[in-house]
Amino acid sequence: MTERRKVWGIDPDVLEMVNEAAKESLPNEFVAALRAENGVITEILLFPGSYSNEHSAFMQLHMLPIDLSVVGTVHSHPGPSNRPSDADLHLFGNFGNTHIITCLPFDKRSWRAYDRNGREVGLEVVDL
Ligand code: ZN
Repeated sequence: MTERRKVWGIDPDVLEMVNEAAKESLPNEFVAALRAENGVITEILLFPGSYSNEHSAFMQLHMLPIDLSVVGTVHSHPGPSNRPSDADLHLFGNFGNTHIITCLPFDKRSWRAYDRNGREVGLEVVDL
């Protein structure tokens, strides 16, 4: 039996918001932090300059205040792959254990979730 992950669900509004922001950010990537309540991701946390390329945006995550409700990150790939790059894998380890990548065409099926090691994890879409 597999243990239920601490973060196991996501609000569909969050996914919609992420995909909209990803579209608006083209041709750049969109990056934000994820917040969860009772194991369900309910909010994204934006920070100044988050509409930029992956590396500079991730660097800015270091400047986020420490917030225990931050469980990971979300970012967009302005291409057809939602697999983590080597740089993504390196950075995932520093910002929690749940990371979402969404890719073109930024629809309901564009995203995938990964743990800090880049292994794919399931997230239930939970309408709260
Ligand atoms: Zn990436």
